[in-house]
Parts: sequence; structure tokens; C-alpha cells
Amino acid sequence: MTAQSRENLSGLDLVAEIQRLKKERNAVILGHYYQRPEIQDLSDFVGDSLELSRKAAETDADVIAFCGVKFMAETAKILSPDKIVVLPDMDAGCSLEDSCPPEQFARFRAAHPDHIALTYINCSAEVKALSDIIVTSSSAGQIIAQIPPEQKIIFGPDRHLGGYLNRKFGRDMLLWPGVCIVHEAFSETELIKLKAQHPGAPVAAHPECPPHIIDHADYVGSTSGILQFAKTMGGDTLIVATEPHIIHQMEKAVPEKTFIGAPGADGNCNCNICPYMALNTLEKLYLALRDLEPRIELDEALRLKAKKSLDRMLEMAGGTVGKGDLGRA
Ligand code: SF4
Repeated sequence: MTAQSRENLSGLDLVAEIQRLKKERNAVILGHYYQRPEIQDLSDFVGDSLELSRKAAETDADVIAFCGVKFMAETAKILSPDKIVVLPDMDAGCSLEDSCPPEQFARFRAAHPDHIALTYINCSAEVKALSDIIVTSSSAGQIIAQIPPEQKIIFGPDRHLGGYLNRKFGRDMLLWPGVCIVHEAFSETELIKLKAQHPGAPVAAHPECPPHIIDHADYVGSTSGILQFAKTMGGDTLIVATEPHIIHQMEKAVPEKTFIGAPGADGNCNCNICPYMALNTLEKLYLALRDLEPRIELDEALRLKAKKSLDRMLEMAGGTVGKGDLGRA
């Protein structure tokens, strides 16, 4: 525990203090859909990885307080090197990033010299630097469609997203064996039971889910795609197979509809809350804005290498966020 996190902040109006510091620092708060509702509500922009990357690249704020996980805050720093980028909790990692150590990924690449590396944004700056093109779940479809079918590809680090893209686009990408521990935890048995309790309710799933969950989905897409589906679908109930904090935005957008988180093995969807995203709290956001720590710092040579593959994504994904989303199952 840091000295900061041992401070007694009781008695402080954290929301008012965060808003005051935000103005004082000329800061922007970027919040991912998987953040706690109170953080989403304080964010200037709430979005998925692609949307937040774009916001980070465009902002004229001096400070970016990134409420998400470390690879996302690193992406913001890669795209906006002159800004101060703070992450409320530097331990907010990601199981996909952890599954793909750069030295092992470098060996994988070297073993397949005729393949290009298409890499999911959920990876370290070092792995981005070893990649040719980065994708997010909302840009992957559009980007793959621009790569000639004969071009051999390695895809990492999420084998479920890669497998889904292979099936959907008829590709044969070599897959790195990483998984998201959150999406891996959904239970097919419990999902079938839930569907039986809500006959006719569609299922929307994130492509980080394993195939036995995807097989039950009426819609497969990024978090922003799933949110859009929630707004436009017919019917009044949706079963949501992704991190359940996205439901906060759904309930705000269409309060008349009912959203039910898909269950984990014990029938309780709490096991699908991302433990890394949950590390960020209002207290830590307040301290990050007050102290401008913990701060993302990157070696400049590494940043420039990583930026190349991110720039390719931003160019290939075009101007419209979500244009390359994966769409119906
Ligand atoms: S939900 Fe999964 S992919 Fe997203 S940050 Fe958490 S562990 Fe990583």
C-alpha cells in the first residue's frame, strides 16, 4: 500500500474535489465502459479502447487521467507524448497483457518471418513495438478486410478474439494462446438456464468470450457495438456477456429496457467483474489528479516503435468509430 492510499480522505467531497482539480490541472478524464459507475459518471468521455485512443490523440488538455487499465493509459501516452498521463492505480493490468511477455512474442514472430503481426490493443507497449498493426474489437473487422487473403498473419494475444475473427472472415491466423480471465469465466450451462428464464431475450457477447458462449449470441461485437445493439434492438430485455459495468451506460441510454449480466460458473455474474479495472476508485482518481502520480513514462525509442502499429490502426480504421465492428453472430 502506498503512502497516498493510506491517507485518510474521509470528509472530503471527492466528486467536487475531482472536478476542482480537473479544472485546475486542465485535465481530461477518460473512462472505460468497464469502470465503476461513479467513475464513468465523472469522466469527460466514456468509451471503448478505440474511442478512448482517439480521444487521447485529439485532446488539448495538459493532463489525461486515464480510468482504465495500464495498456490503455500507455496507449494514451504513446499517442500524446507531451501530456501528463496518470493512471489511478498502476497495478491495473490485464490478463491478456500478462499472457504475452515481449521476449516470448519476439521469438514467436521470429519463428514466422513470412507472417505479419496483427495484435490486439490489450498488450504492452513492447509488444505493440513488435507488431505491424494494432486492432481493437471495434476496428478488427475493417482492418482484416484490407489485408490480402494470401497474407499470412499471426494474431495475439487473445486466442478467442483471434479464433472468432478466423471463423468470421475465413482467415487462418496463427493464434497466441492468451485469454481474458473475465470473459473466460462465463458459464454456458448458466447462460442456457438464464435464456430459458427469459425466452426471446437476445444475447450480446464480446468476442473475447470463448466459442461455447459466442455460439449462443445473437450479436457479437465490441463494447461500443454491444451498447449500440442495446439501444436499437427490438424487445425489452438483453442478456449481456461482457464485463457487467457496461450495463451502467445501457441503463442510462435506454432506461425502459432490462439488462442482465451473463452468469459465471456459480450463477453469479460478480465473478465477471474485471479485477484490474476495479482497482481504480474515486479516492485514487482524486490522488492521481492532486499529485499527478502514478504517471505513465515511456522510453522515447520504444514509444516511437509502438506508435507505428497504432498509427496503422488509426489510419486503417478510418474516421468512424465502430465502423469496423464485428456485427451479428
Ligand atoms: S476485462 Fe479482460 S481484457 Fe479487459 S482489462 Fe480486464 S482482464 Fe483485460
